[in-house]
Amino acid sequence: MSKTRYIFITGGVSSSLGKGVTVAALGCLLEARGYTVSLQKMDPYINIDPGTMSPYQHGEVYVTEDGAETDLDLGYYERFTKSKFSRKNSVSTGQIYHAVIERERKGDYLGRTVQVVPHITNEIRSRIYNLTRDQETDFVIVEIGGTVGDIESIPFLEAIRQMRYEHGNQQVLFLHLTLVPTITAAGEAKTKPTQHSVKELLALGIQPDVLICRINKPMSKEMKNKISLFCNVKEQNVISAVDITTSIYEIPLMYREDKLDEVVLNALGMDLRKLNFSQWENMVKKIRNTKKTVKVALIGKYISLQDAYRSVYESLAHGGIANDVEVSVVKINPEDIDSKNIKELLKGVHGVLVPGGFGERGIEGKIAAIQYARTKNIPFFGICLGMQCAVIEFARNVLGFKDANSTEFKPNVQYPVISMIEEQKEIERMGGTMRLGAYPCLVKKGSLAHSEYKSDRISERHRHRFEFTLRYKDDFEKKGMNLTGFSPDGSLAEIVEIPNHPWFIGVQFHPEFQSKPTDPHPLFAGFIKAASKLAKKTED
Ligand code: GLN
Repeated sequence: MSKTRYIFITGGVSSSLGKGVTVAALGCLLEARGYTVSLQKMDPYINIDPGTMSPYQHGEVYVTEDGAETDLDLGYYERFTKSKFSRKNSVSTGQIYHAVIERERKGDYLGRTVQVVPHITNEIRSRIYNLTRDQETDFVIVEIGGTVGDIESIPFLEAIRQMRYEHGNQQVLFLHLTLVPTITAAGEAKTKPTQHSVKELLALGIQPDVLICRINKPMSKEMKNKISLFCNVKEQNVISAVDITTSIYEIPLMYREDKLDEVVLNALGMDLRKLNFSQWENMVKKIRNTKKTVKVALIGKYISLQDAYRSVYESLAHGGIANDVEVSVVKINPEDIDSKNIKELLKGVHGVLVPGGFGERGIEGKIAAIQYARTKNIPFFGICLGMQCAVIEFARNVLGFKDANSTEFKPNVQYPVISMIEEQKEIERMGGTMRLGAYPCLVKKGSLAHSEYKSDRISERHRHRFEFTLRYKDDFEKKGMNLTGFSPDGSLAEIVEIPNHPWFIGVQFHPEFQSKPTDPHPLFAGFIKAASKLAKKTED
């Protein structure tokens, strides 16, 4: 039986260096070498999960198949690898302490003082071992969130130090991602912050084996040599991570160029199996060679944040890959929209997408944008709240239900076309209690959704408390909005569409959590295809 190898990635000098993408890219390269991988994120915050955090604090909340609300890095992990992820792959300080305290109350530690070492560190380690308990995996790659030097991450670093001590350097490898900034006035890249960061790790008993340096241009041999000498890391184990301004899917190719996969395999004494990387390379080639651009408007409250709609942005890019076009996203804040400026704001766009969200702010702007897309035959894609807004818009402007709304925004509305799911009404606690994770959905033959999915039964991930109010089904269908996807028991409407429109679909689920650059989601591919058609038409 082969032993699992553990690779730990820490970050130094600054946050936002791209640890998540680095972990994902390494996973992608090791899979291309014929190995199996499992990736895990350790988040040092006290929240159990990010489900109750604001996008301003956290960015997107990613949802796994089994319904865990996780960090958006898990999205990168899934998009870059073939590996399957579950709640086991996302760990937080809150979960660790919660488990230990529960055990203490049960009396499992009777007689003993419960301490960070060994009780908290043991719990952290057991979460890592737990990943491979039921399934053998060649590599477990663990991302330690935060930056070395933060108080919060110390127990995680102590746990991985212990693992290295116990399993040795043939089974446990430390990678450190750091920043090598360029001082503009001096025109020089500076290695000092990296040296300090490594010192910080050494003080905690961790000697990194590989350094990955974020830098604005490839490192010279001299610079690698200097870092190597000061940080006790072999020169060939100092890897450049040059800023990429094109597509993040170039990153595995960049790491391949600097031989990150070989360095890791050599350090752990693993065979350099043949690299089978053509699928990824072909996909990147396609991105590089696209000539045409289509413009899609994304109407969301959090457009000022880079990461609040991360999986939607990525899935739109995948839709572009499927259609050989680049998708340029025009970000519009719904609070800036009114019925007078909508024409100007959506001028020249070939598709409108309204993503998921919570709360009343911005709803009227979204509805105005949807009305414009519906009446001007612009392809429209509504996701979760976006679908709910499409239903409200149709009720108000086509069915004549002037006072139509979701009970999320107006509890005593005359036409509650969107209302709370029955089972949700009893729930009082906020954390992890929505309708979460993958559920099957039956797709009606002959519908647009069916022609995109080419399947009668699909499985998609959810994160919501509200739903289409089924007693209005006939009103909608008589006037031209069809319900074409249902939960198998028929109780929940999952897809709405307008057949008399070039492409108009709203879905109650989140297709963006299942799209990959190498396997674009059929709805995103279909939406971008329709947008490309409109682009071509307006060009002619
Ligand atoms: N707020 C809506 C609900 O809870 C939509 C949720 C979402 O878009 N993820 O149903």
